[in-house]
Amino acid sequence: MGRTLIITDIHGNYDALCAVVADAGNAETIWCLGDIVGYGAEPRACVQWVRDHCAIVLSGNHDYAVFEPSILQDFNPNAAFAARWTFDQLAETDIDYLRSLPSLVERDDAILTHGSPADPIWTYILSVVDAREAFLAFTGNRCFVGHTHVAACYAQLDEAVYRVPLEYDTPFSLIDGRYIVNPGSVGQPRDRDPRAAYCWYDAASGEVEWRRVEYDIDAAQEKIRAAGLPERLAARLTRGQ
Ligand code: ZN
Repeated sequence: MGRTLIITDIHGNYDALCAVVADAGNAETIWCLGDIVGYGAEPRACVQWVRDHCAIVLSGNHDYAVFEPSILQDFNPNAAFAARWTFDQLAETDIDYLRSLPSLVERDDAILTHGSPADPIWTYILSVVDAREAFLAFTGNRCFVGHTHVAACYAQLDEAVYRVPLEYDTPFSLIDGRYIVNPGSVGQPRDRDPRAAYCWYDAASGEVEWRRVEYDIDAAQEKIRAAGLPERLAARLTRGQ
């Protein structure tokens, strides 16, 4: 079995998605951990690409918001505006597809979810404290999440939970201990690195590898502005936050 490409938080940024796909090359299997849409200007292209190429696709809070507008009261104004705009761009079949997505899947000794196994769609794992809660909510050794837009790795060895410093382009072994892995965001990174983020996972060897790739940020920003989406959604892509 070959390596699995794991992507998440594409957020309608098709330019970033294409750069990730080109950088990754041939992936035998692709998993997407949610938030295909929201914020970016090409939600339809992203939904169609994910539907056509990914073996596992999870629902994120922004995918959920497209067909459940009652939750927009919990979104900030820019995110709510983008969610309504996204709804107008999608065909009925796209919306049905988003509605059909599961919030949690188990595969190859790993649990996959958008936010946290403690609360799949909504809860963020942003700290060691959050990670400790999350480790209590699943029984296996490996968990893959998105949602924070920050590439990260948390480890539990015996009772200790800590954050693992990331080293890009270098295989990291998940064999000893329990791990929560976040590939980082394809389409709207928030860790002050504007490059698109993704990771590889090899279930057989137990290795994961984080990657970053440059993409045409100007093109993505132009599309956001041309669509009449909030300027902040364009500007933040330059800063990666
Ligand atoms: Zn997101």
